[in-house]
Amino acid sequence: MVEKKITNEMVLNALRRVQDPELHRDVVTLNMIKDIEINGSVVNFRLELTTPACPLSSQIESEARKAVLTLDGVSEVNIKMDARVPNDGRVRNMLSLPIRNAIAVGSGKGGVGKSTIAVNLAVVLAQAGARVGLLDADIYGPNLPTMMGVRYLPPQNNQKIQPAEAYGVKLMSIGFLVKPEQALIWRGPMLHSAIRQFLSDVEWGELDYLVVDLPPGTGDAPLSLAQSLPLSGGVIVTLPQQVSLDDARRGLEMFRQLEVPVLGVIENMSYLEMPDGTILDVFGNGGGMKLAEQAGVSFLGAVPIDPQVRVGSDNGIPVVISNPDSNVSKKLIQISQVIAAKVSIAALQAGLEMRLK
Ligand code: ADP
Repeated sequence: MVEKKITNEMVLNALRRVQDPELHRDVVTLNMIKDIEINGSVVNFRLELTTPACPLSSQIESEARKAVLTLDGVSEVNIKMDARVPNDGRVRNMLSLPIRNAIAVGSGKGGVGKSTIAVNLAVVLAQAGARVGLLDADIYGPNLPTMMGVRYLPPQNNQKIQPAEAYGVKLMSIGFLVKPEQALIWRGPMLHSAIRQFLSDVEWGELDYLVVDLPPGTGDAPLSLAQSLPLSGGVIVTLPQQVSLDDARRGLEMFRQLEVPVLGVIENMSYLEMPDGTILDVFGNGGGMKLAEQAGVSFLGAVPIDPQVRVGSDNGIPVVISNPDSNVSKKLIQISQVIAAKVSIAALQAGLEMRLK
């Protein structure tokens, strides 16, 4: 019997039938197939996704395997799933930094869970294998060190500032530089230079994602940030009730004015799940979705109230680490994956547009 010789072209042609469900293009056009090796009837290759936090990774893998197995003469397919986060294409020439994507988390007012969302987003991305930095730009209430369970910066070497690290995330906060009880009064220019220093004087290294926890409201900090670093996108966190929604609307407007693409709205403390499974609307839910609809932006999801979240914040163990299987963690993980996918889509579209020009 003559064995049929399988070629790289045959493998690639088979894989052209496999689409990335979010990017709506096939995995070959998207340049995701790398290092094809053919040993007799065994085909090996690497499939490089645009984010390690891709929720559809296993679906794409199984479709790719099926497609190659349909080739005559292929008995086995080994796929190494991998990820390379694309640069969002926005030139970071204001400050030249090796950061592929910067995501700002904002809110109209304080106490809505903005820092909680920022922390859990950063940790989920890092757990998925991405290189992640977390910048606490909430200079009025820098509580990320507490939430991430780190009190001090590591020993410094007099060159660039070495950030702290926890749960695989590099962290910088003004909270490391002032005493907890010290009141922080910032004026515009001082704030601007502090934010620039946090970006340029900190040894972030190469990052796939920098998550920035903005101060609440629409003050100077987002402006300084947007002037120093082109943001890939902004997320607004809100509570479901009307007063919070009005503030959130102003937050969305702020991103628009700063020309920061809006990734969407998250409704936090949306509902309470009772032990018997019934759902209690504490603040009345659905407002975040309505706000997103009215503003023409995406609704990224609703996060329930869960005392574990507060316990995690106080103890320095983010809930996605302390209780990864709880409903609240599942929601936070799902929302983080949606954000990563949206950033990838925007980056890829920018890249494709540049290539097509
Ligand atoms: P912000 O950054 O908007 O000021 P925080 O993230 O600091 O808000 O959250 C305020 C408080 O609410 C914290 O004690 C936090 O642990 C708690 N919290 C946030 N989200 C939730 C949630 N979904 N369930 C329970 N507690 C929460």
